Amino acid sequence: KEKAIATPTKTNQILKKYGFSFKKSLGQNFIIDVNVLTNILKQAGVTKDSDVIEIGPGIGALTEQLAIHANQVVAFEIDQRLKPILMDTLQAYNNVDIVFQDILKADIKAIMGEYFKAELPIKIVANLPYYVTTPILMRLLMERLPIDSITVMIQKEVADRMAASPGTKSYGSLSIAVQYYTEAAVALHVPKTVFNPQPNVDSAVLHLQLRDQPLVQVDDEAFFFDLVQAGFAQRRKTLRNNLSRHFAGTFDKETIENKLQAVDIDGTRRAETLTIDEFASLARVFAKNEN
Ligand code: SAM
Repeated sequence: KEKAIATPTKTNQILKKYGFSFKKSLGQNFIIDVNVLTNILKQAGVTKDSDVIEIGPGIGALTEQLAIHANQVVAFEIDQRLKPILMDTLQAYNNVDIVFQDILKADIKAIMGEYFKAELPIKIVANLPYYVTTPILMRLLMERLPIDSITVMIQKEVADRMAASPGTKSYGSLSIAVQYYTEAAVALHVPKTVFNPQPNVDSAVLHLQLRDQPLVQVDDEAFFFDLVQAGFAQRRKTLRNNLSRHFAGTFDKETIENKLQAVDIDGTRRAETLTIDEFASLARVFAKNEN
């Protein structure tokens, strides 16, 4: 059997053969360690009974492992220069399709329908470009794609924020946005040495298990997320202070105090101590126009 793409020598061979130069602006840091890839697949729970969407195949390091272990793979790649390379490196696999489109613009649902033949659980697995991690993940979640889980290598600090619990330094509006849709966990930390070129930041694998229902029930999601953002607007200020500023044109101070009391939340608390449930209660009372 041929050597895996994800080794330092094989990767260098491929890069040299095609005279490929990394584009920093596209977040191109390729994985050169098969063990890390095996571990990512394990965290994702990829088997022959799963179909996989990959974002950013690069020269195919992760794609190859997915092709070997999953039923079918569809990968989205923005960099057209990788076309001849991927045609070469993945030629042995007939269960892979590469779509050369920006994942932020592609009609993901339509493409899923077009390529996936079996009705298997669909997983998203990727070593994401770090410059667009949050927009990509938020798009995938907000589109309500029919997917089972998302397992991605991202900047460690961002992974920590997405999986953070109330009362911790990393907890904020991003934690709430992600956990509203998923059960989030940082699965493993990854050293810089497994990449070529090495990124400037630390990396971690984040696993997101999609919920059947959002974590909390809110009537108006946009209003809920606005209120959460407002709560965290100035982290060091009290909830009362941040909400007063946000609702200044709508409610007077007394009304705001009444609303806080109605849901039994002390206005001197900081947003970082509130659970998602508590934010949902706040959204319910603040959505009402009465005091
Ligand atoms: N999967 C490969 C690996 O692990 O070795 C490469 C991962 S590299 C961190 C990120 C990849 O995402 C690059 O191939 C880059 O060209 C691609 N990419 C960057 N922005 C993208 C976008 N908006 N849509 C699709 N792919 C993108």
